Amino acid sequence: MSKTIGIDLGTTNSVVAFKDTTVKVVSTGPNNEDLCRSCVAMDPSGSFVVGNAPFKNWKKYAPNIVVSAKRLMGGSISDPEVLKMKADKTSYPYGITKLSGGTDESVAIVMQGKQFTPEQISAEVLRQLKKDAEVKLGDQVTHAVITVPAYFNEKQKAATRKAAELAGLKVQRLLAEPTAAAISYGADKMSADEGKIFLVYDFGGGTFDLSILVASGGNFIESGTGGDRWLGGDDIDRLVSDYVLQQVSDKYEVDVKQIIESLSEKKKYAFQGEFKTEIENAKKALSQSDSYTISVYDSLETEDIDPIDIEVCIKRAQFENLIRPLVQRTLDLIDILLEKTQYPIDTIDNILLVGGSSCIPLVRQMLSDKYGKEKILSSEKPMLAIAEGAAILSHSMGTEVECPNCGQVIPVGSDECPHCHASVAGAVSSNVQDGGVSVSFTTKHKYFIETVDEAENADYQLIIGDNEVLPNEVSKKFFTLLENQKIVTVKLFSDAENNSKQLIGIGFLSLQDNLPAHSPLQFTFRLTEDELLCVRVKIVATGKSQDVIISRGNKDEHCLIEINKTMVEVMNNLDVADYKKSEFFSKIQEVIDGISASAIPSDSAKWTEFENAVKLARSLSLVKDEHNNEGEANIAKFLLNIFEQYIRPEDVVALERELKNFDRASSPMEKNEIANKLHEITVHYGLLLNGGMFAIVAENASDPDLAQKAKSVFSQFMSALHAHDISRANNILDSNVHLLNSFAQAGSGFTTAFTTSLGRSDV
Ligand code: ADP
Ligand code: MG
Repeated sequence: MSKTIGIDLGTTNSVVAFKDTTVKVVSTGPNNEDLCRSCVAMDPSGSFVVGNAPFKNWKKYAPNIVVSAKRLMGGSISDPEVLKMKADKTSYPYGITKLSGGTDESVAIVMQGKQFTPEQISAEVLRQLKKDAEVKLGDQVTHAVITVPAYFNEKQKAATRKAAELAGLKVQRLLAEPTAAAISYGADKMSADEGKIFLVYDFGGGTFDLSILVASGGNFIESGTGGDRWLGGDDIDRLVSDYVLQQVSDKYEVDVKQIIESLSEKKKYAFQGEFKTEIENAKKALSQSDSYTISVYDSLETEDIDPIDIEVCIKRAQFENLIRPLVQRTLDLIDILLEKTQYPIDTIDNILLVGGSSCIPLVRQMLSDKYGKEKILSSEKPMLAIAEGAAILSHSMGTEVECPNCGQVIPVGSDECPHCHASVAGAVSSNVQDGGVSVSFTTKHKYFIETVDEAENADYQLIIGDNEVLPNEVSKKFFTLLENQKIVTVKLFSDAENNSKQLIGIGFLSLQDNLPAHSPLQFTFRLTEDELLCVRVKIVATGKSQDVIISRGNKDEHCLIEINKTMVEVMNNLDVADYKKSEFFSKIQEVIDGISASAIPSDSAKWTEFENAVKLARSLSLVKDEHNNEGEANIAKFLLNIFEQYIRPEDVVALERELKNFDRASSPMEKNEIANKLHEITVHYGLLLNGGMFAIVAENASDPDLAQKAKSVFSQFMSALHAHDISRANNILDSNVHLLNSFAQAGSGFTTAFTTSLGRSDV
């Protein structure tokens, strides 16, 4: 029978654990270590190497070596966190750039000139752990509970789910790290009438995470998170290394940092690799012994080529003096969290120590001195607690699994998800239950929907508050704004730092019936245990219900955001006549109906097809000719003339045949039918037609400057096509749309109102 495991997918280290009668950490790698560095390198042959081995061999792989990929999961290229990593080449030598072909903001990791998503890199770590566990357990491993930080948002969780899928693991549950830690400390064993409040103190390699967890009878309610995303063991390493380099500089009367900086790239990586390991060894040794001598020989020399040997002895007391302010900062952050969440320290039953850096005796001592020894719970290896908790949950929920598409819990063995109807065939049976844990999940933030009032003022309406028990379902009534409104844009937000709102998902409702203005729409919002938001709308007038497909941060998001952008652009373009706008919205509506009907996974290439159809609709709304039958034939001719080599041969044949039929056809009915057939083929070549628009502008623009610019865009586009670089071709078009707008015909000067906004519940 296949096994299920718990995985702590950490920023610095990852850990696998397994439970049968007891919980065991599964050792990984050739040296059977508990911790597996979350490190992925690429060897010269282009294969991935994962874990402790490449990390210890930094000089061999740098700059093609990735650490801290977790920080990039679900991130945006303009996030301050991402920019900070990009700037620090010593810690993160690999490339970080905008993902070509992703959304405008997606992040790519670059190794040996190739782009990878953070999910792909994390998947390599998971794949390695799965493989190690299979060897150690002597059985296939199919399912896992994977932990994520309590503050992870939907995008970050979706990215984690994607990584698991790539690694061939079915996610039983994404579990919050503090909850996992509390389970490993036995908090799941409490009786139903017992209640405790925990403060989880997780001091890891790169982050310091605090959370307050209210536990009773196996239920866990997260009641606030704090800490510092940039405080951890790495900072301690930096303090020690600065101290050591200062000692060496003083001894040799040189500036060692300067000397390291001026090393050739290869020598620098070699030195940094060795020095980094030595510093970490010193730090760990000082948790047990009273002194340690840091030594690195034969790597550095003075200007006069005299060797500089690093040989510095550090005593425990010196080490503690160095790091005391940093540990003090963790205590200050506890006070800040307790103050913010209104949990006075007396209400906290236990402080649970988690994470490698909480091994440091000074940490334990300072916490005990301030809060009392009895409050502190720590295990011998606090860096294993999270994986152990995950394994306990995994073991107890062996018969349940998350739907990889919608995230709701479904029984193992299902062929189809009963919630979203996606095919999930292949979920296998796993462990039998034996009196397991039940964990309750609560919302980490508030959820809002955007509405507008009569005067087009946008506002956020609260749909679900924070700390609500999951799964959670809320029903609320909203309204259409205008008569015969065809599309409603559903924009969902969560609260972010500084009272700002963060867009977490976008989707569209297509309305078929000619509804009067202010028609009621009954929305049902369902939040799954993993805080995936699903939206269903009942059109009160007709009684019909419809699911709104909400973006999940992949190709779907790129497409749905493009639809929104394009609708706003066309709607606000005074140069586009109203009848063209109506045509445009019908086309978009077709696309939205297609999306709703097909329930495709968020990374399917089908999304790009939908997106191209949207771009084509936009281009057509900007052309002079009415989109009539002749227009369809002209489009087909145009496509064949300019782009024949990029069209599938069978489509070329079909287009040529139908064009001949079109010329021969005599009745308008017949022409109409053929035009529809042509349209069915040309609609798949939205990208080419969009590119072709620039050739039309180049030929026809009366402004020579505009014509010249369009010509240059067209030739760039063609060269991207020649190179088969579709994402570059797309980017070229996207960044030059304004040229098409300048060319678009002047409209009637009179516009009917078009909207896709959602009306408030209080109108
Ligand atoms: P993460 O949650 O970031 O993946 P971990 O919980 O595995 O990280 O903690 C890793 C950090 O703990 C590293 O900075 C490592 O040097 C540090 N660490 C591990 N063991 C010890 C120890 N015995 N003494 C001090 N620091 C330690
Ligand atoms: Mg951790």
